[in-house]
Formats: sequence, structure tokens, C-alpha cells
Amino acid sequence: MTRKMATIRKIDAIRPIPDADAIETAVIGGWTVVIKCDEFKVGDLAVYCEIDSFIPTHLAPFLSKGQEPREFEGIKGERLRTVRLKKQLSQGLLLPMSCLTNFGADLSEGDDVAETLGIVKWEATLSAQLAGDAVGLFPSWIQKTDQERIQNLTSELAEWKKQDITWEVTEKLDGSSMTVFVRDDEEGVCSRNLQLKESEYNSMWQVARRLSLIDKIKASGRNLAIQGEIVGEGIQKNRYRIRGQEFFVFDIYDIDAGCYLTPAARQAFIAEHNIVVHVPIIRKNFVIDNQTVADLLFTAEDKSVVCENGPEREGLVFKCNDGSVSFKAISNKFLMKNGD
Ligand code: AMP
Ligand code: MN
Repeated sequence: MTRKMATIRKIDAIRPIPDADAIETAVIGGWTVVIKCDEFKVGDLAVYCEIDSFIPTHLAPFLSKGQEPREFEGIKGERLRTVRLKKQLSQGLLLPMSCLTNFGADLSEGDDVAETLGIVKWEATLSAQLAGDAVGLFPSWIQKTDQERIQNLTSELAEWKKQDITWEVTEKLDGSSMTVFVRDDEEGVCSRNLQLKESEYNSMWQVARRLSLIDKIKASGRNLAIQGEIVGEGIQKNRYRIRGQEFFVFDIYDIDAGCYLTPAARQAFIAEHNIVVHVPIIRKNFVIDNQTVADLLFTAEDKSVVCENGPEREGLVFKCNDGSVSFKAISNKFLMKNGD
């Protein structure tokens, strides 16, 4: 599932904020966002933009608070972060439908309007060490790594509770996505969006070579892509205080079958081929019974187990053991602490 950064949504509820008279909160699915009083009503359609959206200035000039706007991929605007206003957590931005007036009338609930509005997902720029030179785009025949946020899956959550399914829960690491693949005579290493040229300066290739990941895939005789998170020096803020770089596997994609291995098949592959680095598995057979979105988000708040005296963890990733779906629950504690 790729994330939809800006969608047309119905406002589920509007609630007052204690000790605040100019602002209130709007609830959209699993999200809570602070709005100005009397701007929206329950049941209204509005454009909801998720945190990490990069919002062009003309859509919401107030985000720059009178300062010069930032710039991302040539667009002037601001990145949406998690904030607290009058002690109330606020995530995202709600825009009135009037921002779409110039784009035709056939828009309805659920539509993704990010592209229409020029909204993109903000991403940290990769260091030169990580990015290196590209051979080309990320191969179209491998699925890119991504996870939908639980806040967008309220109706799915209700369905899952009725089903007899279990989940693998792993720690979500705050590094950079990396993919290593073999397809027939072809082999490669990719960052989230690009296939990279091998060089002794590129951290991703270095790690792939050191761990013999390509040889291990070849030994299996299968066309596979091993996907994981590279963490360590020069990556994000290296919160796990790792020397050099490490790679933690979280998925294996079967290129010929065009699907991911199930958690059990992935873990078996890792064990059989002696790939020692897997993201920490917190639970193997987690059952979602009565938990709400808020409960799952709360479960995500804990310390990282990647290192001793670990920092606040980024969150959890839930993967259905039948391989059908997955989602992430990002810790709000982490988001507030790190200004994300
Ligand atoms: P985000 O970092 O918000 O873009 O969330 C999606 C990304 O989380 C994926 O593209 C992966 O690079 C990364 N990730 C980190 N840890 C895990 C994990 N345990 N399972 C799946 N993805 C993960
Ligand atoms: Mn990330």
C-alpha cells in the first residue's frame, strides 16, 4: 500500500479542547487534528493531509508563521509535523473543499488529491554516502517498501477483529530502506527509490557485500529481493548509536511469484541461509481483539530493543501471518520527542 498524503475525507467528530475557545479538534478516521472553531462541521467533506506531507505555501501560508518557507524538491512550503496545541496532540492539516474549486466537480470521498494539489511526501535527503550514483529507478518488478498508517485503517481494523488472523509484530527502525535482489543473471542493491551503482563509498553496497546477501540469495536458487532497514552512522540521527552500519531484514519479496513471503517463510529463509540480522520480533502471533487505533498506538510506545538503554522506539509494524496485509503504528511519544 502506498501512502495517500492528501485525501477527501468526512469529518467523523468535532470536540472542544479544554481551556481553548478559538480552537477545537476534528477526528478523521484514526487521526485527530486541531482546527479553528466554526471552520468545519461534523459530516463535512474536507481535504485531510497526513503528517509528513509537504504542503505548498499557497495552500496554507500560515504554516510558515511569517518566516521564509522551506523548500523541498523545488517546491516552497512546509512539512507537516506532529504538534501539541494547548496540550492537544494535532496531526496533519484539514483544508476546506474550496481548495479544489479549480479542479473539476467529480471529486468524492476517498479520492487521493495529493497530486492535484501539488502535495508530496517529505523525505529526509539521503547522505552522499547512502545515495551514491544511481544505475536507474527502483525496479518496477519489485514492490517498494512502505506501510500504511493504522490511523487510515479504522474500517479495516473493524473487519480484522472479526477474522481469525494473527500478526507478526516487529520493531520499526528509523533508518533508511534498502533492497538487495537477484533476478536470473541480474543482481542489485537499491535505496527506497533508486537502484545504486556499486562503489566502495556506498554504504548500502558495502553492507550487502559484507553480509554476502547476493551470494546467499543465489545459493537459494530463487529470484528474491531481501528488504530491510540500514541503520547506523550517517543515517537519520543514528539513535541506536551503532558504529558503522547494520542491516535489519524485514521482508523478502518473491520476484517470480510477485508477492511477499509470509512472516514464517521469511523467518525460515533467514534461519536456513544464516542471515543473522532481522528486525526485532516483538510478537509472533499477536491477536487484535478489542484494541482501538489509540490502543495500538499506545502499544507502539516503548524503548527500542536494538541497543542497550535503547532510545524511544519509532513504532511497530504489524504483518498479517497469512501475508495479506501490513500496517505501521508510529509512537506519538517518538514523534513528539523527535519533532517529527
Ligand atoms: P516510513 O519510515 O514512515 O516511510 O515507513 C515505512 C518504512 O519503514 C519502510 O519503507 C521501511 O523502510 C521502514 N521499516 C523500518 N522498520 C520496519 C519493519 N520492522 N517492518 C517494515 N518496514 C520497516
Ligand atoms: Mn523511515
